[in-house]
Amino acid sequence: MSDPIRSIVRRFPGVPTLEGAGVRLRRSFSNREVPLFDPFLLLDRFGSSNPEDYLAGFPWHPHRGIETVTYVLDGRVAHGDTLGNAGEIGPGDVQWMNSGSGIIHQEMPQRTEGTMSGFQLWVNLPAAAKMSVPAYRGLTAAEFPEVTTDSGARVKVVAGRFGSIEGPVRGIPVDPTYLDVSVPAGGSFERETPPGHTVFAHSIEGAGSFAGTDPRPVGGGETVLFGDGNAVRATAGDSGLRFLLVSGRPLHEPVAWYGPIVMNTQEQLTEAVRELRAGDFVKHRRPLVEE
Ligand code: FE
Repeated sequence: MSDPIRSIVRRFPGVPTLEGAGVRLRRSFSNREVPLFDPFLLLDRFGSSNPEDYLAGFPWHPHRGIETVTYVLDGRVAHGDTLGNAGEIGPGDVQWMNSGSGIIHQEMPQRTEGTMSGFQLWVNLPAAAKMSVPAYRGLTAAEFPEVTTDSGARVKVVAGRFGSIEGPVRGIPVDPTYLDVSVPAGGSFERETPPGHTVFAHSIEGAGSFAGTDPRPVGGGETVLFGDGNAVRATAGDSGLRFLLVSGRPLHEPVAWYGPIVMNTQEQLTEAVRELRAGDFVKHRRPLVEE
């Protein structure tokens, strides 16, 4: 019988990357890591107090075949899309966007006095859902339940369950869990994870360690991928530990990836590029046209 506590199997320090129209960010994992994080495709962390690092933003660009999850910690990101959505993602807010068959949107960090920081996670769609109708969820900080455990850890539930509490993002094909966990100095945290699901953690602040065969401290924006097991257990160091804990059901499907479009075959990518050039990439706009 395997150890019920998951052990760290790989560590990812994050790679400085220039993305969008010139945004400096830190890329935890991306296409080079496929299929290690299946069903997750990419995790970017942006964070800077220098507007020159982020103001160029992510002007109008397409997505197909994936869900993009933007979680803002500090500052504001203005957005607009071909579904007719427009607004700002503020501190603690989450935008969970299903590109489905195709969406064109922009994501523009706004100038702020302090720090602009947050994450974008890409969640893959199963083959059967890649050409589905796009959907958009914009959730404000106040909509997420927060739980304090007996051991003093604070858990913000974005998606999935923690105990009897369920996050407001529901109905996602890969059955994800997305938690923002803050463990006080010297405290501990444990959560069951479905066997067979992919589980990773990304350290936001502080440092700590995860139970298992690799007890070396995790911190400084490091991302760690866990092997299989029934639970994850963390212990915070002297400055506490805040981390994202993310899990999902792997798809085990072929991945064909071209920039912001992720499909199953090269033919589907070629078709997407042809449609972009021809101007019929977006299948559903709002107001929706009767077909
Ligand atoms: Fe985007």
